[in-house]
Amino acid sequence: MSASKTRVLAVANQKGGVAKTTTVASLGAALAELGHRVLLVDLDPQACLTFSLGIDPEDLELSVHHVLTKGLDATEVIVATDDGVDLLPATIELARAEADLLTRTGREHVVKMALEDLEYDWVLLDCPPSLGVLTVAALTAAQGVLIPLQCETLSHRGVGQLLDTVHDVRRFTNRKLEVWGVLPTLYDGRTNHARAVLENISETYQLDVIEPPIPKSIRFAEAPAAGRSILGTSRSHRGADAYRAVAAGLTKRSR
Ligand code: ADP
Ligand code: MG
Repeated sequence: MSASKTRVLAVANQKGGVAKTTTVASLGAALAELGHRVLLVDLDPQACLTFSLGIDPEDLELSVHHVLTKGLDATEVIVATDDGVDLLPATIELARAEADLLTRTGREHVVKMALEDLEYDWVLLDCPPSLGVLTVAALTAAQGVLIPLQCETLSHRGVGQLLDTVHDVRRFTNRKLEVWGVLPTLYDGRTNHARAVLENISETYQLDVIEPPIPKSIRFAEAPAAGRSILGTSRSHRGADAYRAVAAGLTKRSR
């Protein structure tokens, strides 16, 4: 498959704790189960994705910041994981890379450049909890953006700001960027409130809501300690199955 067939999806929301990283790890594992070749990219200096896939950032000599700021080839940094996906890992040095990039010409394009010529069916980008240069670079490299959202009061206040950023990216660096939708996470279906918040968001912002919602479950918090996503630790679990269903839906998007 040629590199141009690769689907690049940014998972973004400047709010922390909405399950961006969990979504990237779980969707990645689900797509791999379906036979797709998957690369996950950790773009958060906290390196939670890297850590949750069983890799200790402290053991890494090379990481994504060498690719983004020093021109190293991504293939020299990518590692395989037990979840059947490849990972372009991060370390805390990415925080410095973010500062370095601020004064660089072409900084919005560094992620896109890093992904050129890689042979994957899917690349999922785990964005940091900010709308800074790394998120903008991720949106510039992506065809689609998925917005995980915790359905609680006011948790959606930042969505407008994120959509403003998407709009700017479309104007200046990536005309084809599409919002694929909002993914309800940490969802407690027992409350009418959660459903009401969701409806309000899709109406206010005219966004698609991706089904099914991801249920709230303690299993999600346990998986990273095992160095696997929930699909690896709990083969049949409603949380894992929800991500499998979302992944199957993503593969049906025409492109
Ligand atoms: P983000 O990347 O947006 O900051 P994380 O993916 O790190 O969010 O998730 C934040 C916390 O919520 C983590 O402790 C994670 O294990 C937990 N979590 C994620 N999804 C769920 C879920 N569906 N149910 C319960 N806990 C979850
Ligand atoms: Mg995260």
